[in-house]
Amino acid sequence: MGAFILKEFLNEPLSQHCWNKLGGPAECLIDIDTEDELVQVLTESHAKRTPVRVLGLGSNLLVSEDGVPGVVIRLKGEFAHFSFDGETMHAGGGTDLRKIIPESVRRGLDGLWQLAGFPATIGGALAMNAGGRWGEISDNLVHCSGFLLDGTPYQQTVEECQFGYRHSQLRGIVTQTTFHLKAADPKLLRRQLKEVMAEKAIAQPLGANTPSSGCAFRNPLVGKVRCSAGQLIDEAGGKGMRVGGASVSSEHANFIVTTPEATPEEVMDLMNQVQQLVAKHHNVNLVPEVIQWPNPKNP
Ligand SMILES: Cc1cc2nc3c(=O)[nH]c(=O)nc-3n(C[C@H](O)[C@H](O)[C@H](O)COP(=O)(O)OP(=O)(O)OC[C@H]3O[C@@H](n4cnc5c(N)ncnc54)[C@H](O)[C@@H]3O)c2cc1C
Repeated sequence: MGAFILKEFLNEPLSQHCWNKLGGPAECLIDIDTEDELVQVLTESHAKRTPVRVLGLGSNLLVSEDGVPGVVIRLKGEFAHFSFDGETMHAGGGTDLRKIIPESVRRGLDGLWQLAGFPATIGGALAMNAGGRWGEISDNLVHCSGFLLDGTPYQQTVEECQFGYRHSQLRGIVTQTTFHLKAADPKLLRRQLKEVMAEKAIAQPLGANTPSSGCAFRNPLVGKVRCSAGQLIDEAGGKGMRVGGASVSSEHANFIVTTPEATPEEVMDLMNQVQQLVAKHHNVNLVPEVIQWPNPKNP
């Protein structure tokens, strides 16, 4: 890449940057600090037809053992800052949500504690409208902006993002966001935050020795009801299923946890077996929530 990009790592193992500790190398991983750097990387890559991917905390990714060609960027520097202005919160696309949440609670601002208990950057969370039964990240978004893969700037209102269940129509890489939060009693917010954390600690495998990518499958619509994929897998007898170093968690059947010897392909094999089991037992097709790199349908 160009002369002033200093934080460039060639053949960087993505296993070191993904929450599940799996995945082969990125041909080139670049940490980007400024808009000028980002535009340079995007325009150069576009001109050379080099694929560009953006990595957040790697908590919803399953990267193949062969890794990915081209450039993987991480948004750092000016993209990892957040600030508050009354009930408005501005955050860069690379900001770690886990840093913003406690600060919003401390300031008595309601709207982000609902997203506690999972690792995410703001951009990664918006890409899949992350959330759970307490709320989703789109609930309080006002607008976001960023760059298309050819380096053109864009802006989107929350309506234009067309958020749905674990779905968004982001136009490109999100670099800046604005949220509107609501003033509330900090004591109440602290209590709610604690309750979410406590509930997740009981129900999910969150320890350092049980790496995962969170929920492997989306909760399916059965008729008009969105059912818990974990419950369907559990009822079908999936807990404890194993392929090599990958197994269905005994704590939460929608989590696939891995040992250090596991491979991404073992995780995929196990996911296929779980899909077959649930299809046979419930006549329901589970769809992966975890994002595969490269995309098997569009490598
Ligand atoms: C223990 C655990 C618990 C979890 N619990 C939940 C949960 O309760 N609810 C939930 O929704 N998810 C959960 N997840 C999944 C994961 O935390 C979320 O999907 C999170 O939002 C992913 O963010 P990330 O920054 O790690 O994105 P990554 O995994 O790095 O990337 C995911 C996708 O977002 C894209 N992306 C990243 N940054 C940007 C950007 N700036 N602009 C555009 N696209 C971008 C990537 O290209 C990729 O396609 C859990 C994961 C773990 C490991």
